[in-house]
Amino acid sequence: MLQQTQVSRVLEHYYPTFLKRYPTINDLAESSLDELLALWSGLGYYSRARNLHKSASICKESGLPTSVKQWMALPGIGRYTASAICSFGLEQEVSVVDTNIARVLKRYFALLDAKDITIWSYADKFLNKKESKAHNLALMDLGSLICTPKTPLCRLCPLQSSCQGRENPEIYIKKKKIIYKELELFLGVLVRENKLALVKSKERLYHSLLTLPHIDPIEENFIAKYKHSYTKYRITAKLYHTEEINEEIHWYDLSQIENAPISNLTKKALKFIV
Ligand code: SF4
Repeated sequence: MLQQTQVSRVLEHYYPTFLKRYPTINDLAESSLDELLALWSGLGYYSRARNLHKSASICKESGLPTSVKQWMALPGIGRYTASAICSFGLEQEVSVVDTNIARVLKRYFALLDAKDITIWSYADKFLNKKESKAHNLALMDLGSLICTPKTPLCRLCPLQSSCQGRENPEIYIKKKKIIYKELELFLGVLVRENKLALVKSKERLYHSLLTLPHIDPIEENFIAKYKHSYTKYRITAKLYHTEEINEEIHWYDLSQIENAPISNLTKKALKFIV
């Protein structure tokens, strides 16, 4: 939930509601994906909700994984998440590498242009096996508070006497260049008896969410245009009245629409419709 969303917003609007609705993995596995997507609405990266749902079903059948390898076999769980669960949740003797820890290790061992697999192998070697959890948490804190991307506070660092990257810490930071994609969408608006016509999205971006249907635009039916950013996409959405929708329609009462499994892109359209 915290990917791309502030902690305060997650705590205020999402996490407590999620735990209340799904207190156990079985509750999540037995719920409908539509309901989960509605709860997730506004958080973005909807594949995480779909993967959580799938993972809950697998765990309901086979039980919880017990090793990094088994956790990584679940959909959507990569090496970092699997290791974090095993280290912090299960207190196993495993190393963890997140962005902060990677930066500390790269500098400490002077790993210029190191691939992820190399950084993980240094993390394994560096791990204090007697205190794995404390070690990983300490490295995370060191990375976020002392060995920061810009101007690290080396004089306060407990690793300073043996750090090989201390002289030039900035050379271990590479800025990722994000290439944005422009996308123009033509969306149809059909309202009958205060109900809005929505369809199930088949696009990867918003898969399984309800969305306004994609249409061939007719200029005289134009309603409004708005902008939306989502991951690497810069979207220009244009809304048009339509009477023709060639997909299965899910009618949603406009007074209840906030509870529907819709994305922020669709939510933004509502101010031109409601
Ligand atoms: S001495 Fe400086 S560069 Fe090295 S780990 Fe500490 S803060 Fe980072």
